[in-house]
Amino acid sequence: MPDSSLHDLIIIGGGPGGYTAGIYAQRAALKTVLIEKGIPGGQLNNTDEVENWPGTEKISGADLAIQFSQHAAAYDLAVLNREVVGIEPGRNHHTILLDNGEKLTSHAVILATGGSPKKLGIPGEDQNYGRGVSYCAVCDGFFFRNKTVVVVGGGDSALEESLYLAKLAKRVYIAHRRDAFRAGMILQKRVLHEERITVLWNTVLTEIQADAQGVNGVITRNTMDGTTSALATDGVFVFIGFEPNNGLVPAGTKMNANGYVIADEKCETNTPGIFVVGDLKEKYAKQIVTAAADGCTAALAAAHYVENKKSGA
Ligand code: NAP
Repeated sequence: MPDSSLHDLIIIGGGPGGYTAGIYAQRAALKTVLIEKGIPGGQLNNTDEVENWPGTEKISGADLAIQFSQHAAAYDLAVLNREVVGIEPGRNHHTILLDNGEKLTSHAVILATGGSPKKLGIPGEDQNYGRGVSYCAVCDGFFFRNKTVVVVGGGDSALEESLYLAKLAKRVYIAHRRDAFRAGMILQKRVLHEERITVLWNTVLTEIQADAQGVNGVITRNTMDGTTSALATDGVFVFIGFEPNNGLVPAGTKMNANGYVIADEKCETNTPGIFVVGDLKEKYAKQIVTAAADGCTAALAAAHYVENKKSGA
């Protein structure tokens, strides 16, 4: 007798990739559940304005996240608000272990757990997290109205978040370790024209200093001549890239040297029935639109995989 508790597909993670997979899975009539430990949207909730989601010139990250979850709800996608603590791959089905001790089983699994902000790893960073050190301008920028902040990084995130902070803070320093930004040209132009932003080229932070009230300064080092300087600041925002959230990737599943999961054009990993989408996957462009594209591909491929499994192919 077929096991009625067995899912066709379990999606872990509720960002753009996970929700798109959920919508496509419902359209393919797969018995699906999406498991998310936080609020819908993932990293979208840390994004101020999204200006490159086709069809929508500008929308806040949080609003786009709500739209994704509402769209999935319109397809009656089951969403479970729990943390997954482990995945046991199996020949017949995969087992998903939840933080409350429950176990769910599924033919196919889509990993959509994304990434987390990288840390600088310098003295004063961990100690002052929430006391002036932040990895999210949209979440914490409000506390720095008319204050001074230092942003670290030279990619799209650093520049986008600096522009957001420049609307609130009286001075935004961007400390970048090289003499050229990695970010796209549109953001570069906007940053270089924003009078409240000062770029500190060839500069890294070596220490974050604080008193009882929180962060009050940083020590910087010039990467060209090695000179160090003290800079007074009320906050430090770190945007130096992401690390993949690969803690749930089953043993034996191939990852690259940076911990991103390797998948084929169907988003399937080398572990049969385990698919990967979005920022956890090794790929060229980490964008909302590419995460969504992965979600579509993985769900359609998972539907095919489940069909074959059920027919014994
Ligand atoms: P990123 O593109 O990897 O940029 C990280 C930046 O931090 C780089 O400038 C890098 O310097 C610097 N950095 C790395 N490690 C550092 C360290 N230990 N100390 C000091 N600086 C360090 O990361 P991201 O900006 O978070 O973007 C991630 C992905 O999301 C990218 O593909 C990006 O295009 C995408 N994204 C797109 C948008 C958008 O399209 N609107 C918005 C946000 C993010 P180097 O340049 O010297 O390597």
